[in-house]
Amino acid sequence: MARHGAGRGWYGKLVGAALGVTILATGASVWTAQAGPTSDAPPKAKAPATPATPGVVVKPVDVSIAHASDAGPQGINITIDDGPDPVWTPQVLAVLREYDVKATFCMVGTQAQAHPDLVKKVVAAGHRLCNHSVSHNTAMDKASQAYQKQQILDAEAMITKASGGVRPVYYRAPGGAFTPYSRTLAAGRGMRPLGWNVDTKDFERPGTVAIVATVERELPNGPTLLFHDAGGDRSQTVEALRTLLPRLKEQGHTYGYPVR
Ligand SMILES: [Zn+2]
Repeated sequence: MARHGAGRGWYGKLVGAALGVTILATGASVWTAQAGPTSDAPPKAKAPATPATPGVVVKPVDVSIAHASDAGPQGINITIDDGPDPVWTPQVLAVLREYDVKATFCMVGTQAQAHPDLVKKVVAAGHRLCNHSVSHNTAMDKASQAYQKQQILDAEAMITKASGGVRPVYYRAPGGAFTPYSRTLAAGRGMRPLGWNVDTKDFERPGTVAIVATVERELPNGPTLLFHDAGGDRSQTVEALRTLLPRLKEQGHTYGYPVR
């Protein structure tokens, strides 16, 4: 599904130019230590570069993969991946609103670009954005650094543009295919690498009961739960959230965001 893969054109050049500025601003030493022997060198800035989000100062964050919740020891992070999707994202948003739960949406760049209205709705409801790469290549940890950079920075730009200027503040590699390079790149752009503790396997459509049971069984693993709002029929996900959100609250849990 390399819908964005054929040539970078002006868009890639713009992002590349913005990256040059970032390198200068955040200090070249980290970058040169991570860049390795690829053709990944920053462009020799000739023309004035345009920041990805004009006027926004990007603060680097920790490069380690976050799992903890900012909602304390009983905190739970609901994370929703692979959207936005015109059928399922509105239903997930409705359930989250019904139970007054804030979540983190890990968006695929092309999906965000196709559905900017949904990205804006997610932001308006108080949820956080997470960069889930341009084309969801779960083998991107085996690809070149130049490819990883394009996947992360282009998705960042696509999501930020679709949201109307709100940046993703996490980066979750598709399938967890992080590399030290991709973590450093994302963290330098203010996107904390984001993992998960409980894979609900909702993607396999095991049934609502099974999704709920997986969460209850594996919650001792940690607070970050992985769900999906795209990639097929997600009605089981919506129903599982409808069961879980009030139940976990009754059990004393609170909902928050992953730490940054
Ligand atoms: Zn995914």
